[in-house]
Amino acid sequence: MNTEDLKSLIPAVDTRSLVDRVEMNLMDFFIKRNLKPGDPIPKEIELSAAMGVSRTVIRESLNRLKTMGLVEAKKHRGTIIKSPDIAEILQKSMIPRILNETTLRDVFEMRLILEVGMADLVVSRASDQDIEELFEIVKDESLQSADTLFDVDYEIRFHGKLYEITGNETLKSFQGLLLPIFNYAYSSGLINKHFENKHYVSHKELVETLRHRDADKFRNDMRWHLENHFRRIMVKAEGSSENGYGIKSSFNSSGRNSLS
Ligand SMILES: [Zn+2]
Repeated sequence: MNTEDLKSLIPAVDTRSLVDRVEMNLMDFFIKRNLKPGDPIPKEIELSAAMGVSRTVIRESLNRLKTMGLVEAKKHRGTIIKSPDIAEILQKSMIPRILNETTLRDVFEMRLILEVGMADLVVSRASDQDIEELFEIVKDESLQSADTLFDVDYEIRFHGKLYEITGNETLKSFQGLLLPIFNYAYSSGLINKHFENKHYVSHKELVETLRHRDADKFRNDMRWHLENHFRRIMVKAEGSSENGYGIKSSFNSSGRNSLS
């Protein structure tokens, strides 16, 4: 019987599902053995013999785990278990142009929520030197919020310093992740309502509040600093009786406005 005839009679083995199964078995094995970051895992050849699959299948499964940041190859030590960097994994799929509008909006909102929400950490963890550094960053700040908005480097320096002060590494790497998408969502016109600029809580005012170690005021000031963005996402959708999210902002009556 020739190969073509045989092929029509016997279904091909789904090697992809084999890799899937090996990947799952490896994960189970790591968990059962209670392996910790830095622990070595058995060699490819040992795993291949133990699981009864080819080394190619083992290698492909391990490569997937590497992509997920769960294992890494070390010189002289073979492959070891690694604590995954959550932000790094997300970063691989966070390419603004291929994210749909809903995700872009969600990310835009996440940045706003994080920056208002981290007020307590910033106020309780900022050292006097951190505050000095912030004063240094804001010393040439323009009073025009529009100027601040378009100076992206300045924005990142200021808000990046706040993330740094929290001492939360995961939060910090989220900033690196969220900001490019935030800027993309803004500049792409997806979230593009223009508001009159009447009042503005500047970076300078924020640092002043931080110096007085007043967490409630800092949170509130940050909320107003970001007011223009909040209004963009809370604004009534065209032709709708609701705003875009069906949520009413309690911050929409003062005419305060900020761009960044
Ligand atoms: Zn700002």
